[in-house]
Amino acid sequence: MSTLKAVRGTRDLLPPETGLWNFVEETARRVFARYNFWEIRTPIFEETQLFTRGVGEETDIVSKEMYTWEDRARAQSEKSQSLTLRPENTAGVVRAYIEHKLGETGLLQKLYYIGPQFRRERPQKGRYRQFYQIGAEVIGPPSAGSESPLRDAEVLEMLATLLDELGIHGWKLVLNSVGSSSDRPRYVAALREALQDKALQMCVDCQRRAETNPLRVLDCKVPEDQPIIESLPKIADYLDEDSRAHFAAVCAALDACGVKYEVNPRLVRGLDYYTRTTFEFTHGGLGAQNALLGGGRYDGLSEVIGGPKAPGIGFAMGEDRLVLTLQAQAAQHGKLADAYVAPVGEAQNAAALDLARELRRAGLQVELGDGSFRVKKSFEIGNKLARKIVLLGEDEVKSGILTVKDFAKGEQVKVARAELVTVLRQG
Ligand code: ATP
Ligand code: MG
Repeated sequence: MSTLKAVRGTRDLLPPETGLWNFVEETARRVFARYNFWEIRTPIFEETQLFTRGVGEETDIVSKEMYTWEDRARAQSEKSQSLTLRPENTAGVVRAYIEHKLGETGLLQKLYYIGPQFRRERPQKGRYRQFYQIGAEVIGPPSAGSESPLRDAEVLEMLATLLDELGIHGWKLVLNSVGSSSDRPRYVAALREALQDKALQMCVDCQRRAETNPLRVLDCKVPEDQPIIESLPKIADYLDEDSRAHFAAVCAALDACGVKYEVNPRLVRGLDYYTRTTFEFTHGGLGAQNALLGGGRYDGLSEVIGGPKAPGIGFAMGEDRLVLTLQAQAAQHGKLADAYVAPVGEAQNAAALDLARELRRAGLQVELGDGSFRVKKSFEIGNKLARKIVLLGEDEVKSGILTVKDFAKGEQVKVARAELVTVLRQG
């Protein structure tokens, strides 16, 4: 008898790796709670229609990746129906929002989920057929402020905080606006026209998309198609006054709280339901599967699946990819602590213990030196044990300005005590 194995594209998660998965999930739950998000758990399968209508027939997900089957009726009173393993969770959350009339509270619903999703894709590193997403949605009637650009900015700021608290370094936020449902037709018409003679030089998928859903052409990853895509009209030139102002307000709110981003006019994302803000957080360490998470606004989704007007914004993070990134970082840094706190002179020992306490309480891994060591010796030990050294001499204690050296980069900088945790968390 042949031995049975986990199905292609699925895998067992074993200890000790499951410890890392728990860390990621616990950190996400803790951060979400601080922003007043509450957990929702929706079923793992839904009626197929939810996804064909909600995600869109022409998307890769619906057109080729879903696990769908005809579920036979067990009794006369039942009907056979087409069911699908959920390929994503936003449609399920919005279905639940409608079904349970959550909009009638008049308040914003801030919901998060953690769980498996299923897509029949070609398995490779960071891409599986059963994978895990951690996501959240802010949805509600317009009177609850669900359309406000402040909601977009708050979600993005929360994500930046979550990635920092997970200890993921070097992420990049890429942002765009795909406009409202009234901007879209004008842009799609312009795209269609531009593609009329260009599509023939593109890949077969793009030739089909040019006919059925031209927006999807911008999503194409085939290298040969990129120069043509670059030459197509840009959505930014087709946004109306409202969409433009909405996007500017999102950017301004991010600027105000220091969250860095890059605008990419080609970011349309793979799902049909997005309107206005779309975004991705990417990470260089992931290779071809470089998206850690993606999301955006979906002001019309509820109506598309038969509900009331309920604008919303949300995201889904690939938990598998978060774990891969953390593992790669750990391999790169070995077993190094975040910081080595080095008192300069024994008189500074007590102050150093206090500083180490503050950093440890902020979740950093810290080794404490000793003021009786010469500075050269502190540097040698620090270099073996930690990624950065924080020097605490008499001047530093008095001024509250600390000297921090990054061993890998060879850089030495002055940092105010209030900024120290942030600086030590970076890279
Ligand atoms: P990609 O372009 O990588 O296929 P996507 O646009 O299909 O991503 P979304 O549907 O927006 O992805 O899902 C959000 C996140 O879920 C992605 O950014 C990624 O981290 C993760 N993800 C999506 N599909 C898979 C998969 N098959 N295996 C592992 N993670 C995935
Ligand atoms: Mg995909």
